[in-house]
Amino acid sequence: MAICGGLRSEYFWHKEVGPAPCSGTGAPELSGFPITLDNRAVYPGPPPSQTDVVVIGGGVIGVCTALYLARAGRRVTLLEKGRIAGEQSSRNWGWIRQQGRDPAELPIMIEALRLWRELADEADMDIGLRQTGVTYLADNARQMAGYEAWAGIATAHGVDTRMLDPGAVAAMFPGLARRYAGAMTTPSDMRAEPWLAVPALARIAARAGVRIVEGCAVRRLDVAAGRITGVFTEAGRITCAQVVLAGGAWSALFLRNHGISLPQLSVRETVVATAPIADVHAGAAADKRLAFRRRADGGYTLAAGGVAELFIGPDAFRALPHYLPQLRAAPFDQTYRPAAPRGFPDGWRTPRRWGAEDQSPFERMRILNPAPNARLVARVRRDFAALYPGLGPVTVKAAWAGMIDTMPDVVPVLDRSPDIEGLVIGTGMSGHGFGIGPGAGRCLAALVMGDEVGHDLTRFRASRFTDGSPIRLPPL
Ligand SMILES: Cc1cc2nc3c(=O)[nH]c(=O)nc-3n(C[C@H](O)[C@H](O)[C@H](O)COP(=O)(O)OP(=O)(O)OC[C@H]3O[C@@H](n4cnc5c(N)ncnc54)[C@H](O)[C@@H]3O)c2cc1C
Repeated sequence: MAICGGLRSEYFWHKEVGPAPCSGTGAPELSGFPITLDNRAVYPGPPPSQTDVVVIGGGVIGVCTALYLARAGRRVTLLEKGRIAGEQSSRNWGWIRQQGRDPAELPIMIEALRLWRELADEADMDIGLRQTGVTYLADNARQMAGYEAWAGIATAHGVDTRMLDPGAVAAMFPGLARRYAGAMTTPSDMRAEPWLAVPALARIAARAGVRIVEGCAVRRLDVAAGRITGVFTEAGRITCAQVVLAGGAWSALFLRNHGISLPQLSVRETVVATAPIADVHAGAAADKRLAFRRRADGGYTLAAGGVAELFIGPDAFRALPHYLPQLRAAPFDQTYRPAAPRGFPDGWRTPRRWGAEDQSPFERMRILNPAPNARLVARVRRDFAALYPGLGPVTVKAAWAGMIDTMPDVVPVLDRSPDIEGLVIGTGMSGHGFGIGPGAGRCLAALVMGDEVGHDLTRFRASRFTDGSPIRLPPL
């Protein structure tokens, strides 16, 4: 079904949009997510026939890249197969953290914090940006040693990370039922409400001149003599010389159709939103089993640690050799499901090859909306209630899941494609792309324009999986 241009044209957005509504019984609402095709598109087509840069994907990475390109005077068209922020960029925990990042990401993330503040000021609504800190709680001395090593990296970059002893943890988290061996905390880290923030950034981008089209999949690139001459969309061809691929979980599938192999996989993460509850901690925190973050509406966003679920498909087998170091380092951080649901990027029956005239897998699945894992929903509610017995019953207001696009070395690709001239790739954000989004977008825009990026992007080069380099895992 081609829906480009077929969606209603009036400006529309749920200002109060948030996780799916409370069932009233405390039982999780296990289906649906607020950004769906049922609520009308804000940015319907039609796409132009010509533009300077096409950005593929309306998540935080595509939106921010488009924004900074438009600010630099480029004519930019952003094409989104479903809805702005319909996938990972609205489903995430809302942590904006420097803490725990790969040292190569840290300078970009420090810049992103500054950009988030600027963007929050420009936004037409409160996106929930608050500087409330991020804390990692340690179960034992071994974890503390790992955190201490990372705190050294933070200090070298001027980040305010510090270690907490068990007494300081108890003082910072009153009401905890258990005692931790200590913690690492970064007070300058922030939080925001993703399903509000990324659409608000898109509205800033639209005001800056970005032409946003929702419900319009890019089927493939038009490439002549090794360089981009345009893109084929489901609504026709657009002439352009530059393309940014920010397709999240779909990027590897998009590239494979052009003969480019990227060992990117997707894992399911389940998220739970509690109803408003007493304020036990204003920021975000996690131990190895549970992560929690206070939301602007007074509830907590909860998730289970170390339970990424990989649906096994052909790409998982292809990419396996690249993932061996990660599997050896943390063999139990992943659970495996025999097959991806129909139409998922790594589904067994998902086509790997198609032409400009064929319906692509992208338009067959407008929004990647995996069902949350009901067992994990129950587990995180139980764990949170047990951690804070003083809270009384914890009511689940909503539950959802997202597919995280991940890479073997848990850092993204931010690079010009070595294979196709005019293509810039920004993908594989590996579960931490929301916070760094504005910084990564600013870097990608600089790559498109051939400007000085201002950060060393060597670690994020696309060729690292083919140039014989060993897989280097991040410190934490
Ligand atoms: C449960 C969960 C928790 C997370 N928690 C955090 C967190 O607390 N902090 C943090 O920093 N990060 C977090 N992340 C990660 C973060 O959400 C992602 O890294 C980030 O949103 C990725 O943004 P993106 O723009 O690359 O991808 P996405 O948001 O997935 O956007 C990609 C878009 O591209 C579109 N698209 C794909 N192919 C095409 C095509 N051919 N044509 C047109 N459109 C196309 C898709 O429809 C999609 O909307 C979390 C992720 C999940 C799922």
